[in-house]
Amino acid sequence: MTILVTGGAGYIGSHTVLYLTEQGEKVIVLDDFSTGHKKAIEGTVCYEGKIHNSELLDKIFIENSIDSVIHFAASSLVGESVTNPLKYYENNVMGTFNLVKKMAEYNVKNIVFSSTAATYGEPKSIPIKEEDATVPTNPYGETKLAIEKLLKWSDEAYGLKSIALRYFNAAGADPEGRIGEDHNPESHLIPIVLQVALRKRNSLKIFGDDYSTEDGTCIRDYIHVLDLAQAHYLAVKKLREEKKSAIYNLGNGTGFSVKQVVDACEKVTGRSIPTEIAPRRAGDPAILIASSQKAQINLQWKPQYSDLESMVKHAWNWHQNNVNGYNETFVYNSKV
Ligand code: UDP
Repeated sequence: MTILVTGGAGYIGSHTVLYLTEQGEKVIVLDDFSTGHKKAIEGTVCYEGKIHNSELLDKIFIENSIDSVIHFAASSLVGESVTNPLKYYENNVMGTFNLVKKMAEYNVKNIVFSSTAATYGEPKSIPIKEEDATVPTNPYGETKLAIEKLLKWSDEAYGLKSIALRYFNAAGADPEGRIGEDHNPESHLIPIVLQVALRKRNSLKIFGDDYSTEDGTCIRDYIHVLDLAQAHYLAVKKLREEKKSAIYNLGNGTGFSVKQVVDACEKVTGRSIPTEIAPRRAGDPAILIASSQKAQINLQWKPQYSDLESMVKHAWNWHQNNVNGYNETFVYNSKV
């Protein structure tokens, strides 16, 4: 039994591939390396290409005995989705349409889907529960929600079983420092703060300090990338055992403000982080905190690194040792 991981060379994908491999699973990756890194999947068999490529999917499903797919491959920048929604419908919705079509053709019955808190939009109550209203405020969240619905109807029609995991704010890196987070351009808070600590940036722009929160800055629920990896594996096992579709939030249930994140980064790095107040970023809700009770009960998911300090520590370890991210001169085990 082999697990196909699409987008396995990305940040969350590569940590999941590493985790699955360490659990003794047979894993193959499909990635177009538009944003992923070859060095992040050292030693893993990889097909290079897009999920839209039907011939490539034929080859993958014929050459491997795949029973489950973990589907990360997607465009995932909220701001870009607003200025270029067609890219998001093409990459996310059309790509997943093709993947699901091929899964039905090859009778592959399990898919774990990388969804997002952005499916909820502006929450009506905190913590957010899975059955709360889903009203995305940007095309990124809209395309992820469209895919959740595509999967729901594909279960009814073709018996395709899916678990959609709605993540809150992924953070941290492999505790052993083998892989980490490398986006270009970087838009996420913790890596940007650490770039300031490394003096690669002069200061952090805090996007708004006039929200109705205690210190005026936005509050988010940060979740360690390895805890996400663990949840993906538990979801695959659940699908294999129970063959039942579901949707789960993945967060810690605790919120930290932007200023609290900066404080934690100053403490871990021992360096000062200059900040400046900038205008609010469009589409940022004031507070996003998950209720992940359902995942903890049904998947028996137990986050191992739920304190913010561990997340920052592991991220700092990676960034300090990889100041320029991955060095892409590396040769990997490519199949195509
Ligand atoms: N943020 C910020 N400055 C930055 C990047 C992010 O103030 O340079 C804030 C952002 O407005 C949000 C929080 O940090 O409130 C987390 O943002 P991130 O982009 O990491 O994740 P998101 O919550 O958008 O998924």
